[in-house]
Amino acid sequence: VKTGKKGKIAVYDAALDRGRLRRMEIEAEIGTGLDKGEFDVFYQPVIDAHSGQIVATEALIRWPRRAAGVLVPQQFIEIAEATGQIHPLGMFVLERACRDVGPLGDLSLSVNVSPAQFRDPGFLRQVAHVLEQTRFPAGRLQLEITEGYLLSQPETAIRTIRSFKAMGLSIALDDFGTGFTSIHYLRTYGFSHVKIDKSLLVDLGPGSKASFLVAGAINLARGLDMEVTAEGVETHEQAALLRAAGCDRLQGFLFGRPMPIADLRAMCAQGTGD
Ligand code: C2E
Ligand code: CA
Ligand code: CA
Ligand code: CA
Repeated sequence: VKTGKKGKIAVYDAALDRGRLRRMEIEAEIGTGLDKGEFDVFYQPVIDAHSGQIVATEALIRWPRRAAGVLVPQQFIEIAEATGQIHPLGMFVLERACRDVGPLGDLSLSVNVSPAQFRDPGFLRQVAHVLEQTRFPAGRLQLEITEGYLLSQPETAIRTIRSFKAMGLSIALDDFGTGFTSIHYLRTYGFSHVKIDKSLLVDLGPGSKASFLVAGAINLARGLDMEVTAEGVETHEQAALLRAAGCDRLQGFLFGRPMPIADLRAMCAQGTGD
């Protein structure tokens, strides 16, 4: 019994070490990847639900030139958050996106911000610096943040959001519907937008439970004067339902996958997203 137990622990430890080793490898690769220019930023169009025009774009990081093979954001963002590399990585995305999207008329730009960045006391000043360097108008920039961080530090979050709004930026609550943000907090944070998470759109058909849930989320946000974007829109049926439920903006593969800036530029020149 004793040896069996020992053996089990040994196997467990080995798996743990392998995981730790892989994270350390990826940590080192993120560092060199940044230096070598292995990262890219792709852009997904966001469409006005009623006019069908492209009104905004979300910047999404990509790592196409990693020597050991492509990783998706979910596989390396979490590691970068744990190691602190999310700070340089996040600033890389912000600066690149401001330069890329700046020339595209009055298109708004949404950039994802990790909790660690938002919590960093120097972040506000860094964003202001990038806006200055790239001459990107603050009024066209939106930062997307998720619920988790807000609940852990509500007072700091509210203060930071107010400062960004005073600079002219807007702040969106990302992945709305997946967390537990109370209605009370939603009011006090001062979001101008919410983004309905794509997981809420699964099985979204007329009269379905999902459709009531989504309509409820949209009504709640609109009742608090927030603009609503639905992400993960893949079918015309979903788009029609979301439009009827009062959604302001639509984003998803139906209108365009995340793409290089040149492709987004061509799409903007063409006008609509379908
Ligand atoms: P997110 O912010 O919720 O971004 C939306 C994700 O949904 C993107 O995945 C996008 O490609 C995907 N998506 C868009 N439309 C559809 C659709 O119609 N169907 C489906 N199935 N998926 C769709 P992506 O690019 O892999 O990014 C995953 C997550 O990684 C993002 O989720 C965000 O949390 C994080 N992320 C990406 N770029 C950055 C970044 O620059 N900074 C930070 N902090 N996080 C980032
Ligand atoms: Ca997002
Ligand atoms: Ca999201
Ligand atoms: Ca997400």
